[in-house]
Amino acid sequence: MTAPSSAAGWVEIDRNAITHNIRTIRAELGEEVGFCAVVKADAYGHGIDIVAPLLVAEGIAIVGVASNDDAAAVRAAGFVGRLMRVRPAGREEIDDGIRFGLEEWVGGVEHAGIVGVTAAARGVRIRVHLSLNSTGLGRDGIDLGEAGGLDAVTAVLADPHLEVVGLCSHFPCEDAADVAEGASRFDEETRVLLAGTHACDRIARHCATTFAALTVPESRFDLVRIGAGLYGDSDTVGGALRPAMRVVSRIAAINAYPRGSTVGYERWHRLDHDARLAVIPLGYADGIHRSLSGTGEVLVRGRRAPIVDRIAMNSFLVDVSSIPRAAPGDEAVLFGRQGDEVIAPADVERSHGHIAADLYVAWGRLLPRRPVAAAG
Ligand SMILES: *Cc1c(COP(=O)(O)O)cnc(C)c1O
Repeated sequence: MTAPSSAAGWVEIDRNAITHNIRTIRAELGEEVGFCAVVKADAYGHGIDIVAPLLVAEGIAIVGVASNDDAAAVRAAGFVGRLMRVRPAGREEIDDGIRFGLEEWVGGVEHAGIVGVTAAARGVRIRVHLSLNSTGLGRDGIDLGEAGGLDAVTAVLADPHLEVVGLCSHFPCEDAADVAEGASRFDEETRVLLAGTHACDRIARHCATTFAALTVPESRFDLVRIGAGLYGDSDTVGGALRPAMRVVSRIAAINAYPRGSTVGYERWHRLDHDARLAVIPLGYADGIHRSLSGTGEVLVRGRRAPIVDRIAMNSFLVDVSSIPRAAPGDEAVLFGRQGDEVIAPADVERSHGHIAADLYVAWGRLLPRRPVAAAG
């Protein structure tokens, strides 16, 4: 959806940043590592309609999705390569995913049965990536440390309705030592499994996300699954990746209130100075989470202005007392760059108390999007 000029707020998606990030990451990884571009949740809120054509232009061969809506959008954008689901899916979802040629993520032996039965009912063979709990995420995947783990894998490899094309795992922590240890265990476990099957040359081993792939080279194996890095939400590669999203609004109104006044619901804040407060016309209905109340910041005229009240459903207040020229109609940036200042993913993480993706995925899906092509 393109933002109408009257929108109270919008997100700008910088195509050039995404292309730059793809090229930077590929240069870092080298030619021999396969690259799966993860566009789950409508490209982390950046819009598959905007991102997928860039992946096609860069010759990306594998795309990772979560929902069938993601898969449909990737195909609609003209991507004809391999599509991998990056989580276990339910039976109806798997059935409906066949038309997109989706490779399924098998999250355990019982789940393998569900995928196999779905394939059998359609008279097809589904290509799958079998998840192992080598890294200790404990979310999905067969645990080879458990009695029966090896038999479970053997059973999946033998299912005539499943074509195992990948052995995969997923890391619990963005910590280099933890990743290195998990990767080493994944290496040992998958070596044993591949030694026992004749299908080993068509089975890819993969476990790395952006952090792992760009921090611990031993975690790369045959293929890496890159999400956050595409969108510039990663401090890896020496800070060379560029955030692709800007969240923008405009000051609607400014009022002056005397020292001692209370501000916002529950009298959230008491002014300790005579203040000028600007109304920003976005709220928690737009994904501006209440966790940012009194903790977040907004850029106005290239300077940081603190959010002072409790975020309301459709508005919040920033203190612009130290920005005397601030006026209604001024651009207010909630995420991204304005002039020499920037609200980076790390800033959002600090204000919000959780990873930045928790918020920007929602911003990108709730606010209208405008593709832009910023200068590097
Ligand atoms: C989201 C996801 C990725 C991508 O992770 P990033 O940290 O965003 O690069 C990779 N693999 C799986 C299974 C995922 O769910």
